[in-house]
Amino acid sequence: MTLEPFALYLHVPFCGQKCPYCDFNTYATPKVPESEYVDALLKDVRFYAVDPRFVGRKISSIFWGGGTPSLLSPKAIAAVHEEAERLFGIERGAEVTLEANPSEPSKERYLGYRDAGVNRVSFGVQSFAPKRLTLLGRDHSGEDARRAVNLCVEAGITNVSVDIIFGVSEQTLADLEFDLEVASALPIQHISTYALTIEPGTPFFQRQERGLLRMPDDDLVASMLTFIPDYLSGRGFSRYEISNYARDDARSRHNEAYWTGRDYLGIGAGAHSYVSSYSNRQRIGGFRWSTLALPMSYMTTAGSSASVSWREELSMESCRFEFFYLGLRRTAGVSLVEFERLFGLTTRDKYEGVVNDLLREGYVDRQGDIVCLTPSGVLVADSVYERFII
Ligand code: SF4
Repeated sequence: MTLEPFALYLHVPFCGQKCPYCDFNTYATPKVPESEYVDALLKDVRFYAVDPRFVGRKISSIFWGGGTPSLLSPKAIAAVHEEAERLFGIERGAEVTLEANPSEPSKERYLGYRDAGVNRVSFGVQSFAPKRLTLLGRDHSGEDARRAVNLCVEAGITNVSVDIIFGVSEQTLADLEFDLEVASALPIQHISTYALTIEPGTPFFQRQERGLLRMPDDDLVASMLTFIPDYLSGRGFSRYEISNYARDDARSRHNEAYWTGRDYLGIGAGAHSYVSSYSNRQRIGGFRWSTLALPMSYMTTAGSSASVSWREELSMESCRFEFFYLGLRRTAGVSLVEFERLFGLTTRDKYEGVVNDLLREGYVDRQGDIVCLTPSGVLVADSVYERFII
């Protein structure tokens, strides 16, 4: 019997500088300790290759996230891919994504990543307008971003994604349209749009506390949320998840693994992993864990269970909630038949009651056994998800 493949996430917790809104596990580093960090990643690849939860399972997708993984050389990326291929096996045609910063774009570098097996690049662009790039503390210009995308495509990596942030201080709808217009005119297949959130502990949080950061009001952000899918669909990008839009079939396969509750292994400082547990072919719960967040702590413990900072066992109720919470993010929605297959018929009724209430309130649509958010449901998505905590 062929075992289910899993998605592999590799975290690179280094950036050239720390953006003032960012609360990811990443550290401004003048010089990345590449060989030490890659050694640690390789130790963990070997450690999990003999873990019974992963033995015999292939890798369905790879995602290098951060941080700024493009600070690692193509040689370093290739070394990890080779070891992952040797010990697990990577499925033929697997999506291999690298997040990249568009500062200092270089065709030679992208050629190196392509030869290392990368077939998708996700650029953290955020905006093309000088004013917003300065406000967001980005270390690249709009022109750098355009050049980076074009050079990457010229180098043969044609599956390219661009991240755009909206809801930024003093931003108007016309400003947002400018960013979307420039992005959608590029030879890219995918756009992710994220509303700026002010996270505790960040410089933006402190500025806001002191009244130095004026955020757009909720009505304007709601208008932006409605504007983005309309605008992008006119440019050939279909929404397939609350924040994600793709041309043709260029959805992020790796992220779809998260949204559909598939298993993933996270390697690198502060990376998260998830494995489901089954009994009699029904999902009865799962396990989630994370590695140590500080790069030095991670590097000195990688390759052993000492690199795990916390682990938790998920109850069946948590897994059922996540089924709806993650699945409703996708425009394809969730299938109640799939829910029943995973969790059993006896539990379907009470969740169906929640679905019926949401249908009456106009926040979800239902076609047969498929349930998805309506446009008004998207605007209050968090409160819709909460209704499935039962
Ligand atoms: S480049 Fe990305 S990961 Fe690094 S600090 Fe900025 S937003 Fe965070």
